[in-house]
Amino acid sequence: MAKKYIYFFGDGKADGNARMKNLLGGKGANLAEMAGHPKLKLPVPPGFTITTEICTLYYKNKQKYPKELKKQADSALSRVEKIIGKKFGDIHNPLLVSVRSGARSSMPGMMETVLNVGLTTKTIPGLIKKTGNERVVFDAYRRLLMMYSDVVMEKAAGIEPEEGQGIRQKLEHTMETLKREKGYTTDTDLTVNDLKKLCDKFRVIIKNTFKKEFPDKPHEQLWGGIGAVFQSWMGKRAVSYRRIEKIPEEWGTAVNVQAMVFGNAGDSSATGVAFTRNPATGEDMFYGEWLPNAQGEDVVAGLRTPNPVNKAGKTDDTMHLHSLEEEMPELYKQLFSFQKNLEKHYRDMQDIEFTIEDGKLWMLQTRVGKRNGQAAIRMAVEMARSKLITRETALLRVKPEQIDELLHPGIDPDAEKKAVELAKGLPAGPGGAIGKVVFTADDAESWSNRGEKVILVRNETSPEDVHGMHAAQAILTAKGGITSHAALVARGWGRCCIVGCSALHIDLLKKELHVNGKVIGEGDWITLNGTKGRVYAGKLNLLPVDPEHNSWYKELMKWADQFRKLRVRTNADAPEDSAVARNFGAEGIGLCRTEHMFFGTDRIKAIREMILSENLEGRKKALLRLLPMQKGDFIGIFKAMKGLPVTVRLLDPPLHEFLPHTDKELEELSADMNVPFEQLSAKNKSLHEFNPMLGHRGCRLGVTFPEIYEMQTQAIMEAACELTKQKIKVIPEIMVPLVSHVKELEAIKDVVISVADKVQKEYRIKVPYTVGTMIELPRACVTSDEIAGITDFYSFGTNDLTQTVYGLSRDDSGRFLPFYIEHGILKEDPFISIDIEGVGSFMRMAVEKGRKVKKNLKMGICGEHGGDPKSVEFCHNLGLDYVSCSPYRVPIARFAAAQAVLKEKEKKKKRR
Ligand code: PEP
Ligand code: MG
Repeated sequence: MAKKYIYFFGDGKADGNARMKNLLGGKGANLAEMAGHPKLKLPVPPGFTITTEICTLYYKNKQKYPKELKKQADSALSRVEKIIGKKFGDIHNPLLVSVRSGARSSMPGMMETVLNVGLTTKTIPGLIKKTGNERVVFDAYRRLLMMYSDVVMEKAAGIEPEEGQGIRQKLEHTMETLKREKGYTTDTDLTVNDLKKLCDKFRVIIKNTFKKEFPDKPHEQLWGGIGAVFQSWMGKRAVSYRRIEKIPEEWGTAVNVQAMVFGNAGDSSATGVAFTRNPATGEDMFYGEWLPNAQGEDVVAGLRTPNPVNKAGKTDDTMHLHSLEEEMPELYKQLFSFQKNLEKHYRDMQDIEFTIEDGKLWMLQTRVGKRNGQAAIRMAVEMARSKLITRETALLRVKPEQIDELLHPGIDPDAEKKAVELAKGLPAGPGGAIGKVVFTADDAESWSNRGEKVILVRNETSPEDVHGMHAAQAILTAKGGITSHAALVARGWGRCCIVGCSALHIDLLKKELHVNGKVIGEGDWITLNGTKGRVYAGKLNLLPVDPEHNSWYKELMKWADQFRKLRVRTNADAPEDSAVARNFGAEGIGLCRTEHMFFGTDRIKAIREMILSENLEGRKKALLRLLPMQKGDFIGIFKAMKGLPVTVRLLDPPLHEFLPHTDKELEELSADMNVPFEQLSAKNKSLHEFNPMLGHRGCRLGVTFPEIYEMQTQAIMEAACELTKQKIKVIPEIMVPLVSHVKELEAIKDVVISVADKVQKEYRIKVPYTVGTMIELPRACVTSDEIAGITDFYSFGTNDLTQTVYGLSRDDSGRFLPFYIEHGILKEDPFISIDIEGVGSFMRMAVEKGRKVKKNLKMGICGEHGGDPKSVEFCHNLGLDYVSCSPYRVPIARFAAAQAVLKEKEKKKKRR
């Protein structure tokens, strides 16, 4: 039997179901589920899905289809014809279809759609006769002309016109001119005659542009549309979106061919887009937009500002608009029950599209709705509370980055009260943002590449703008509703966004924004409050948000803490940072880098004196000056951590980082030290290293100049003893950096223990301290069985481990790593996410060898990876005890640690 490439749905039946997303794409799988699942059986216009396998075959076989495809498509089409009672291409009673893309994971607006396929000069009269509505038919035809010429004749043919010169813009311009001449404000003002004339004009423009006629055969249109959808999978914007969202190319897209229903068939017709819960706040309310007498693209494209679907969704700004609930109460009731049913069935918030044709409600799409972080957290918690999902599912449903969104800044309310409000719009993506105004996506990208903060201001965005939207701090559009492209994309990324800000008038030529009598030029600062939909002139102060006042966040984090096994610490070397981290839930300090304590203006001279001294006596003298300062630092940090463990790492960086850079600095030092300038300068030069990252740094300093680590140990232990005497609990953990040989650690441990003993004796008190090592060199991993014997703990320094396993300079790799990632040589930057196969193998070896010697050896990680969710999962799987990361990453790490447990559980369940 021939392979099945086509899956039918409609009339209460379906070949596929929601679990077949890989084969049918998200849209196709969900259409099948809605149409065919016994608990749903919703009214879905009949149609069929061409599988994603065809997309892959299409590209493999030089853009040709397998020969069985045509036959299968014909037979599915005749099934659709039978159900609908119309025939594709029939001159008396023609069936029209839509052709839409549908990838495995939703790529909003990235790929193509063609509506009204099957309308030709021959079928138009039949359809007019049948519908008795000439206007609808010509409106449908002008849409077909616009979409098809853009998608099939231009984009799929690889034609790339200059900005603003595309066929779609040309046709839109023609239509806008006609509307202006006639004094119309909306598309619905166009009369039948206007539309007829427009269609004629469009066909001439299309012919002149492409040097060929607009196709007038239904099957040519159909296969042209199907090909264009497959073609769009490799289109520039889809490729760039996939790269940002990390969607593999091999997945391919499916194509859905479906009978058309008309939301623009008159006053008892309508179309809309809605969410089963509010996607911007997470509130449990049916929320959406609709337009009477319109087709779906009118709502999504944001060309007309739509009405709220119900009374509850009205805001001060939309109070005067009519809701579907008020205009068509019976149909609204039906829609309301469908959406309730869908959410219950899918156990998740759904994003649905519907059309009402002549008083009959049709469901066109359902999919899991995109949401921002705040909404994701609220929905997950409320759904778990109401037992729609389990707590485990709630935790797995929120992405760690969405937790991060909650930690993004809002606008300082005091500053906001005094600010000059420029305009109001729809709040599409919450949070605050400041940036310089730019008007094109390319400018947004290039300005941002040179380090500028920008806000992209457009009339409306299109998928061509995604690169600029991604580069911008926020997006502001003059047109469009809460489901417009800008709103959807921004929400997916958790970006601040305001849409439908109709007071804005953009002059693209002058690069100016005219708003309520004011003129804002390119490069001028503005501020957006995406939570309220307010635009302000200038640069307002942003405040970090306070997640502690968000009860849903707190509850979710409580659940996360109940599930996770990994402890989460922070990397901090100042009392203020330590306090921030503790508030975020840090359970200790995993890395206190002491070198930052040497750079203060009051200290750098002492450390330079220490380094440049020719003898031990000189070094000790300088170190003695540093001792009280270091001790003060530790007292501050220990106090801030309130009895939680604090890992203090002894001095690590190469000495040359502290050396004077100018003759003036050397001269000052020569006077202070009473050493001739030339002598000091020669010493300074002699300390220069060719490869400092692999040079005289880390424990190598402690081995050659033990007095440095002696002073540091003394400072740590004196601070600890003093506080302990004051009944303040302190748990110091002294950590030795860059150990590659067990003998290094042995030598330093002797020094540390003897000083620590001495201090404790002096203070006549015992402090429970430990001495451990960083594992950040390959040799340390390989000889972990030797090192484990003499250490109290391990902390993986994955920054240096990545550097040395890869042989990749931490400081220089930025010059070529982006190229590697862009060209697919590396999937991710190994300094951001642990390279599990390479660096991870060394870690695994260190863990296994170390624990063979000491079964319960405490192990953690303190490299930057400690705050990266994927790396946290790896650390969990490796059996580490804790991760340590920067203060603002602590909540993400706590959350990722819980997800790691749950994912492991899921995997085990699958294996069984
Ligand atoms: C590391 O190397 O991963 C580490 C934490 O130490 P540093 O970044 O200070 O070298
Ligand atoms: Mg290091």
